[in-house]
Amino acid sequence: MSLSLTYPCPEKFTPKILVIDTILDNLVAIQHLLQGLDVQVLTAQKSNQALQIANSENLALIFLSCDMPRLNDLEVAQLLKSEPATAEIPFIYLNEQQQDEERQLAGYRNGAIDFINKPYNVDIIIAKVTLFIHMWSLKNDMRLEILRRKAAEQEIKYLAQHDTLTGLPNRRHILTDIENLLERSRRQDSQFAILFLDLDGFKKINDELGHDAGDEFLRVISKRYKSNIRSFDLISRYGGDEFLIVLTDISETLELTPKLKRLIELSLEPVHWKGSDINAGVSIGISIYPDHAQTTSKLIKCADTAMYLAKDAGRNTFRFYSSKLNKALERKLALEHAISSALQNCEFEVRYLPMIDAISGNILGAEALLRWSNKTLGEVSPAEFIPIAESSGFIHEIGIWVLNKALPLMQRHPEMKFSINVSSLQFNNQQLLNTFIELIESSSIGPGQLVVEITEDMLLAHKETEMARLDAMRKLGIELSIDDFGTGYSALSYLKEKPVEQIKIDRSFIANVQDSDNAALIKGIIAMAHALNINVVAEGVETHEQMQFLRDQECDTLQGFLFSKPLLAAEFEQLVQSRSHSSLNIA
Ligand code: C2E
Ligand code: MG
Ligand code: MG
Repeated sequence: MSLSLTYPCPEKFTPKILVIDTILDNLVAIQHLLQGLDVQVLTAQKSNQALQIANSENLALIFLSCDMPRLNDLEVAQLLKSEPATAEIPFIYLNEQQQDEERQLAGYRNGAIDFINKPYNVDIIIAKVTLFIHMWSLKNDMRLEILRRKAAEQEIKYLAQHDTLTGLPNRRHILTDIENLLERSRRQDSQFAILFLDLDGFKKINDELGHDAGDEFLRVISKRYKSNIRSFDLISRYGGDEFLIVLTDISETLELTPKLKRLIELSLEPVHWKGSDINAGVSIGISIYPDHAQTTSKLIKCADTAMYLAKDAGRNTFRFYSSKLNKALERKLALEHAISSALQNCEFEVRYLPMIDAISGNILGAEALLRWSNKTLGEVSPAEFIPIAESSGFIHEIGIWVLNKALPLMQRHPEMKFSINVSSLQFNNQQLLNTFIELIESSSIGPGQLVVEITEDMLLAHKETEMARLDAMRKLGIELSIDDFGTGYSALSYLKEKPVEQIKIDRSFIANVQDSDNAALIKGIIAMAHALNINVVAEGVETHEQMQFLRDQECDTLQGFLFSKPLLAAEFEQLVQSRSHSSLNIA
């Protein structure tokens, strides 16, 4: 625990005795008299000095001389009695001579507990002082005990409300503070913003540099945040690498932008640790009272949701909560959750979209397209779930499953080509290539029978290991096809350098063949591909007009709902059989 005690316990003191006399010799005499005792003797020659000492020191006893030429001892006694801080200090009058009864009575009324007359009997004085000191010690011990308990209580309270690592208020503390703020904001009709901050890359610090580095990072970041908010704003370490900041009394949400940017800058600044720099970042979600919610828990949930949107938007940024975005995120979270068990629950299926020879109308093969049907979510489009399968890492398992699923069909139709879609992320992993190797070596798939559809960005990334995997695949007899051609970078020059057998012109171009610019583009793509000996497939052919145009341009292969929807394996095989008797919408 790095936190030092915030409420130190009071120490035991040496008893102090104040001697008040205007005559220095008298003071010295009393000091001398008391020197054998374990006491500290303080002296005062003036009333204001005496009162000041009595107020600031925890006195066990006061000696007050009755016979001071320039000081009215009764007045001093009265003043001491009237102040709560000094009223309880016992005092003894020192007299030159025996006082008359009336004066003694006045002394007692003003708080005197004893009178000592000259000539002083040293033993009596020592005995009396010892008794008073003993009484004071008992009282002081009690007082100390009370103070100690209070300090311990405060310490416990502090620890219960603060994070021991950073010293910031903890989750419980800020929740209470937000409740109070809510009440005040309701009364005053004011708004406030809750910022949910989640560090980006903090886990990496802990994993790679150890927990000490992680702790130091949190301590430094906490200090930076704290010194960059106003004294009346709230801050808390809410969880491991989560912070909550509440900006109170905001008038315009737009005015928050510079503050949010500053918090991001502060998080991006490196933290020095053991001679090197540690780096991380932050994603911030913001909810506003009263716009987004009216209770503490809902406001925090909204800010948390918005924080996920910030993470999704690429991190080191901020997002305000909005119910529309929240729906999108909820959907994404639901998909993420459901996809994790989709394979075990047999929720996937592969459909086959026939590929047609543009001239003969013969079925050349099919593209395997994944389908997901979930009990609660219904049919989910691959365009929606493939990115989720990628980000959650399930794409690898799913990709291998698709390949295995398509294999029997491929083996039954060695005369046909079958395409599998492989996203660039799948190339990050050696597993896919291993599965290709195993399957091709153990099955009867012929060379060129398996086509892998990848997107342009994959080829343009030029990542060495991934390129090596592509080469290895080609050595196994797997052909490469560029999917959605024309939608990516379209730096056509790469085509002559890369071992590509096929390009698939994206559906969006085919949908607009009547547009002359578009038509010119398609013509150009086909001519260029043919010049490089690359086969051209047109995706998404839906009309006879489109088909005719593509045939006129000598496009090699056609694919689209004009010929068939994606089919189950059995349906596809039926189509192949019946195909020997009739043509597929080809004139
Ligand atoms: P894609 O590879 O470009 O697949 C073609 C998409 O266009 C398919 O959508 C197909 O159903 C649709 N399509 C084909 N012809 C027509 C047509 O004439 N009209 C219309 N309106 N649409 C047509 P789908 O099945 O929704 O797939 C979307 C995308 O999801 C695919 O685009 C592919 O990128 C990805 N995908 C599908 N299955 C897999 C898979 O097993 N693995 C990976 N990594 N991605 C897959
Ligand atoms: Mg495809
Ligand atoms: Mg496509």
